Amino acid sequence: MSLRVVFLGTGGSVPTRERGLPAVVIQRSGEQIMFDCGEGVQRQMVKAGCGFHRKMKIFVTHMHGDHVLGLPGLLQTMALLDRQRKLELYGPSGLKRFLECIRETVQFVLTFEVEVHEIKNAGAICEEKDYVVEAAWANHVIPSLAYAFAEKPRPGRFHPEKARALGVPEGPLWSRLQQGRQVRSADGKIVKPHQVIGPSRIGRKIVYSGDTTPFDGMVKLASRADLLIHDATLDDTLAEKASEDGHSTPRQAARIAKKARVKLLVLTHLSARYSDANVLLKQAQKTFRQTDVAEDFKALDLPLQKD
Ligand SMILES: [Zn+2]
Ligand SMILES: [Zn+2]
Repeated sequence: MSLRVVFLGTGGSVPTRERGLPAVVIQRSGEQIMFDCGEGVQRQMVKAGCGFHRKMKIFVTHMHGDHVLGLPGLLQTMALLDRQRKLELYGPSGLKRFLECIRETVQFVLTFEVEVHEIKNAGAICEEKDYVVEAAWANHVIPSLAYAFAEKPRPGRFHPEKARALGVPEGPLWSRLQQGRQVRSADGKIVKPHQVIGPSRIGRKIVYSGDTTPFDGMVKLASRADLLIHDATLDDTLAEKASEDGHSTPRQAARIAKKARVKLLVLTHLSARYSDANVLLKQAQKTFRQTDVAEDFKALDLPLQKD
């Protein structure tokens, strides 16, 4: 199953010619899972070829404008395009009231249901058949969440040759083994699932920090992630200011990535002062080589791990 991560906005606080405001979307199995919803997100979605009618969930990290002001415009665009499917929103408290105020004052009519989940406690906040989204409280100047999207492990691979060798013929007995039940072979011996099925295969994990200073909980949340998308608003020489503003620097993000043993770190939420993001990239790579810098419309395909 393919999984693509598309960066829709990679700047922080104010947009620039090159960077929109924070938004990143995971496209997987016909569904779109978005983290943050910066202003103008619907135009970025048009440019990136994201659909407005798909199954979709949006996870807002915090109520700062650059992360949430895209919602009214996106909802209105979806309504004008006659979206019918429910849209699910997750975020800290305040999200519900924000949407109510917008709907009262701007008075647009929605053509679809919006289900808002305000998150009070960290932990698994959204569980589907084959994935979980976990939230952790980050460390910003207002309450802010970091999110981890993780696919559940897939069952191990079934080996027909092993089943045959153990005297289990193709047919209903194979399905029983695949359901995790033991069976009896042709000569009466018990055959257990682990004898014919390989170990379960781990799924993909993508972690999004939102705005935050480095914090220990992030190492746990991001543990062994395929992709960590982390705040790197200001460069290392401005570490003090970054800390005051509740943000991280490239080196700090890289340390988290290293401790968490992630496969790839992508720096985002870059301050408008950097026209050349290489400065930030180089600082991070000194600590963690597998680092990249997010660019608007950059897309990453994350393959499933083989066996
Ligand atoms: Zn921000
Ligand atoms: Zn913020």
